[in-house]
Amino acid sequence: MRCTCCGTGVTRVVDTTTHSARGEVRRRRQCQNCGYRFTTIERIRVELPLVVKDGTPARREPFDRDKLKQGIELACAKRPISQAAIDRLVGGIEAYLEEDSSAEVSSQIIGQRVIDGLRDLDEVACLRYAMVFLNLEDLVSVRCEIDRLLA
Ligand SMILES: [Zn+2]
Repeated sequence: MRCTCCGTGVTRVVDTTTHSARGEVRRRRQCQNCGYRFTTIERIRVELPLVVKDGTPARREPFDRDKLKQGIELACAKRPISQAAIDRLVGGIEAYLEEDSSAEVSSQIIGQRVIDGLRDLDEVACLRYAMVFLNLEDLVSVRCEIDRLLA
């Protein structure tokens, strides 16, 4: 484990605590070179439910955090939304999926959560995402969605 202060790889574990409820092991480490102390956390990787696209069980794929983030970033382009807010939104959806014990989740549910999250941040970004996600092609359905979002 490389020291975050001086960059050498010689650290010693000075304390270990296990948070069994959270499935975490925290290790307090001290750099043998500069004496800097820091903590590392080991966590069990939770298996996320598979995402079912368009309600078609044949189209299942693993949840792709980067893809979700890219979609949101695209909708937020040039809008006054901080990267931290986007990261929080993505993190919130990931946490929701980690808590969900079912084997599958519909892409509709994820999309709806993004739309709900963006609505609180920026209406334009919310609409942009909704238009791509809901595949709105004609102005009538865009108008319907705007009315629904603003309601
Ligand atoms: Zn060091």
